[in-house]
Amino acid sequence: MKLSVVIPAYNEAEGIETFHQDLLLPGVKNATKNYEIIYINDGSKDKTLELLTRIAKKDSNVKVVNLSRNFGKEIATTAGIFQASGDATIILDADGQHPPAIIDQFTAKWKKGAQVVIGVRNKQQHEGFIKEFGSKLFYKAFNGTSGEAMVPRSTDFRLISKEVREEFLKFAERNRITRGLIDWLGFKREYIIFDSPERLAGEASYKTSQLIKLATNSFVSLSLKPLFLFGWIGATITTISLIIGVFVALEQFILGDPLQLNFTGSALLGIFISFLVGIVLMSQGMIAVYLSHVHSQSQGRPLFVIDKSTSSNIQ
Ligand code: UDP
Ligand code: MG
Repeated sequence: MKLSVVIPAYNEAEGIETFHQDLLLPGVKNATKNYEIIYINDGSKDKTLELLTRIAKKDSNVKVVNLSRNFGKEIATTAGIFQASGDATIILDADGQHPPAIIDQFTAKWKKGAQVVIGVRNKQQHEGFIKEFGSKLFYKAFNGTSGEAMVPRSTDFRLISKEVREEFLKFAERNRITRGLIDWLGFKREYIIFDSPERLAGEASYKTSQLIKLATNSFVSLSLKPLFLFGWIGATITTISLIIGVFVALEQFILGDPLQLNFTGSALLGIFISFLVGIVLMSQGMIAVYLSHVHSQSQGRPLFVIDKSTSSNIQ
């Protein structure tokens, strides 16, 4: 059996050499003798490419895919999965937060028949309030709207078998979230709980705004329910205002206000109009999000562009 290891790297120069040492041992070499390591340099602005190329020169098991610019982690990971040729492919971060020492646990589960092995971050760990709260909210909302359940704290640290990889490569959507797509595929899943250490060096490059974008993207790409939801809200509000309208008409104008409510028409009208305008705007906003997806998909650009002159050991 051959194991492919896919690692997206963006500005990881400081820690990448230490990471590579750990990746070999106690990492990959504990799991198998037959392996390939595929680094994807995602348009790093530091010396990441230089260091990776040096590593690849010394070791024929190491390949470097150099993307022509920064495409983001999700696309970079996909680029790596495209290059993988093993019987199983494992994906992990280049910053040491996905400990290579437990790779053999993933392959063990795979050997026992699992087709997708998912790393789940340990509950005790804290990520900072916004990330923690945001991801909780995300999983709650996501699992409420989409068919396939996503386990909270599940990460991109995961192994997929050859057949899952083949199916994964059929996805053509541009706004993608790797773990969402793998979850969507189904197959036989197993979980491994792990403690995520601090980064080896540097800082996480996902900012809060990017995380919000990622969450929105996964909603839009994996679920159509938000679009329907706003339709339902609109229908409900229209119905309620219709009922109230009929009540006011009856009570005030036909029966001559027996309850002495003295509705002022303009006040009611003002509230209703602003309410309805809000709804119209919200649904227009939703439509715009979907439209932007249709738009970028219809442009039909390639998912990523490899700069062949600077990618080592690529056929
Ligand atoms: N990464 C990437 N492209 C990007 C941002 C990040 O390939 O535009 C890689 C990064 O080098 C690391 C992984 O994705 O290997 C996770 O990134 P990071 O540690 O910044 O995010 P975290 O998920 O830990 O918050
Ligand atoms: Mg990280």
